[in-house]
Amino acid sequence: MLRPYIRDPLPRLLLLLPTTTYRTAAFVEAARQIGVELTVASEQSSALEAANPAGLLTLDFEQPERAADAVRVFAKQYPVNGVVGVDDRTALVAAAVATKLQLKGNPVHAAVAASDKYLQRELLAKATVPIPRFVLRNLEEDPATIAISISYPCVLKPVRLSASRGVIRADNAQSFVSAHARLRAILADPETAAACGDRARQYLIEEFIPGYEVALEGLVVNRRLHVLAVFDKPDPLDGPFFEETIYVTPSSVPAGLQAAIRDCADRAVRALGITDGPIHAELRYNERGPWLIELAARPIGGRCSAVLRFGDNRISLEEIILRHALGMAIPSLQRERLAAGVMMIPIPGAGTLREVRGVAEAKRVPLVEDVQITAHPGERLIPFPEGSRYPGFIFARGETSAVVEAALRDAHHRLEFVVVA
Ligand code: ADP
Repeated sequence: MLRPYIRDPLPRLLLLLPTTTYRTAAFVEAARQIGVELTVASEQSSALEAANPAGLLTLDFEQPERAADAVRVFAKQYPVNGVVGVDDRTALVAAAVATKLQLKGNPVHAAVAASDKYLQRELLAKATVPIPRFVLRNLEEDPATIAISISYPCVLKPVRLSASRGVIRADNAQSFVSAHARLRAILADPETAAACGDRARQYLIEEFIPGYEVALEGLVVNRRLHVLAVFDKPDPLDGPFFEETIYVTPSSVPAGLQAAIRDCADRAVRALGITDGPIHAELRYNERGPWLIELAARPIGGRCSAVLRFGDNRISLEEIILRHALGMAIPSLQRERLAAGVMMIPIPGAGTLREVRGVAEAKRVPLVEDVQITAHPGERLIPFPEGSRYPGFIFARGETSAVVEAALRDAHHRLEFVVVA
């Protein structure tokens, strides 16, 4: 007897996308490339949801456990095979969902440790991973009293923000007190405070670690860290604020030192209990070796991931992340042969953006692949440390990191931001 032919359903991926993210296009395109059923969850309901109940879902990202319960109900009707968060906040929700539905992902405690700088420091210290000396303080404590009891230079930082927002170096008691006032004002904003949850009235004071900084992009597969790229950050990051600019890979750091850097990141992954998924880490090194500055259980932020391509088919970082979450084969974790770089365009000043000139000219610079201006006319630009939103990104690819870096700088020089105070 002939059996009716029943096609296996495609796997369904649940993508957790905050409404304000830059990451939508890259992840949706990756899902399309792989050919999976996609459910996009975001924190704001959409009028389209009723028309597309399998494809759109509203979840409260501030309540990971409640969100995971909602996904469990959803999955009874539309079985979910993998879950991916795209930033710190949704990485927490993804961990809660993965735990509840027994999908590939991090345990909740690991995702929490990766998004809470204090908890992270505690775990790394216990595992003897090299980190700066640190202390947690309450914003209500008198800064003048603290200022005379600590050593300098130090770094003040909020416990649960990202993208260097609110991170300030202080070199003496006077600059500590003014940094404290600035940080306090940043954390007084209700939306920012909500993002920090029960850490909104606390901050870290850390020893400032001098040295050269690199970023490491990795994928953890069943507790094992695969390093996807090590990026040099050729512009010095000495503060007092820590706005990023250029990332280029491959790194020019000598191989032995890179091995020590990788090992340091690997130890941090294990100390935090991260089992699966992307990581992005910042490390410094100096004459005393590598230092773990911060490790996040999410991919590189903003639009920067476009700089990475893997294997013969030049698949994207997002495709690797989605395939891993769904337990699908990953064709390659080997980055392409060419050097590649991205510039997070520095915030040109405080004010309202009127226009950006020279974009076409910047795009014509040899080796430059793209110039993406993400700020729109009329947008308020807020410099660091209060702000953290870059007005755009420049991408370049070439034979060596040095020529790529030069192309990025050349393209940037051709841009003119018209900002009115
Ligand atoms: P965020 O998660 O907001 O990016 P980080 O802790 O990664 O916060 O700090 C942002 C940047 O500030 C780092 O990439 C580094 O350049 C600088 N920084 C932070 N802490 C230290 C430190 N203790 N010593 C030296 N530089 C630091």
